[in-house]
Amino acid sequence: MQHLQKPRGEGVLVPTAPESSKRIISGMRPTGRLHIGHYFGALQNWVRLQNDPSYECFYFIADWHALTSDYADTSGVAENTLQIMIDYLAAGLDPKKSVIFQQSLVPEHAELHLLLSMVTPLGWLERVPTYKEALENVKNKDLHMYGFFGYPVLQTADIVIYSKKGAPLVVPVGEDQVSHVEVSREIVRRFDYLFSPEVFTDEVNLKNVREVKRFMRAVGWDGELKTDDLLKSSLAYGHWVKKVAAEIGFDNFTEKFKEYQRFFRFELVLVEPQAMLTKTPKVPGTDGRKMSKSYGNAVTLSETDEGIWQKIRPMKTDPARARRENPGNPDVCPVYDWHKLFSPSETLEWANQGCRTAGIGCTDCKRAMADNLIRWIAPIRQRRLYYEANQKLVRREIQEGSAAARIVAQRTMKRVRDAVFGKNRILRRTLQPGTKKQKAGSG
Ligand code: SF4
Repeated sequence: MQHLQKPRGEGVLVPTAPESSKRIISGMRPTGRLHIGHYFGALQNWVRLQNDPSYECFYFIADWHALTSDYADTSGVAENTLQIMIDYLAAGLDPKKSVIFQQSLVPEHAELHLLLSMVTPLGWLERVPTYKEALENVKNKDLHMYGFFGYPVLQTADIVIYSKKGAPLVVPVGEDQVSHVEVSREIVRRFDYLFSPEVFTDEVNLKNVREVKRFMRAVGWDGELKTDDLLKSSLAYGHWVKKVAAEIGFDNFTEKFKEYQRFFRFELVLVEPQAMLTKTPKVPGTDGRKMSKSYGNAVTLSETDEGIWQKIRPMKTDPARARRENPGNPDVCPVYDWHKLFSPSETLEWANQGCRTAGIGCTDCKRAMADNLIRWIAPIRQRRLYYEANQKLVRREIQEGSAAARIVAQRTMKRVRDAVFGKNRILRRTLQPGTKKQKAGSG
């Protein structure tokens, strides 16, 4: 949890979390209304994290990511962006505790994406499992586009633009997304290897040169190690150290060679993100498959009571209960999975017993579950209705959250530009709008 404050002279709120806070960053694509699968798979956890004082949370609406698959028809993106923000707020995300923003309102994400794309080998992107899967499975859209291919790079930029020196950068994910974070880590390592300053300290002297040699051997240097060379310049050795560190990860390197730590120092521009594996309950769709809007098997957070029942009534159950008198097994029934989410323990017991003994019918079981789901969703839907009626307020929250995120992103981009082009780059001044030089030139 963090507090947002207005810095003097600025109109937007910026996060003021303690230095040691871990930064959490996560987002969703605005491709439609959020459903209960999104709630239990992510939003519930996001709300928990924003209320934990050890975290500083950034949650965003990934509208550029929506284009990676929906580029041919962008007509719904703006409305979906608004609706997803309403879903975020209704589910309990609080702009006073989290920075909630729209990706495309922080254009620095695009600039960092560009710079990271310069150093990302094609092979790394080709082997992202979800990329291959999507190409094989999605038949109604042509995904052979650079934007789709490069989305892990954009995703990396989305995360690491919120790097803060000394603060772990954490991405809450499910099992299937761990590989994305792994690619991000590799891209960041490569960037840091290429653009972070040299790391060998210049303390090599006659007293410690033997130990420096031991260190160089330990990190795999198999060339000559002349005392004179080491005393004269440690540049080549420093470069080797950084190369090895980039291969195994800078943090791993620091841990592995901590006995030699006084000989090296990493001043990394970007922080490697870490995956936070989140245990989430099973939320199958009404047909038993993964819940997804595109399968038409989801209950959205904005569903009416009648709409909920219409979806639950034909829900798939244990096929063994083809007839009322056949006993069944609740462990293989999606309705029972939903009972676990919404029903109190006595109802769970009633459904479990009744199913196994054929003491209840599936319609009774579904009705009981639907009633509990309706009770659970009521306060979320009520908050949704409030924000739907106050869209100006929602737009303002997006605007202010994005402005706050942008201040943080701009700080990172300054460091990134300095690292890539050098602090004295000639374009730094000429690119600033309104400078005297520029005015003179334009006249
Ligand atoms: S009684 Fe309930 S748990 Fe058992 S199969 Fe029917 S719907 Fe599923």
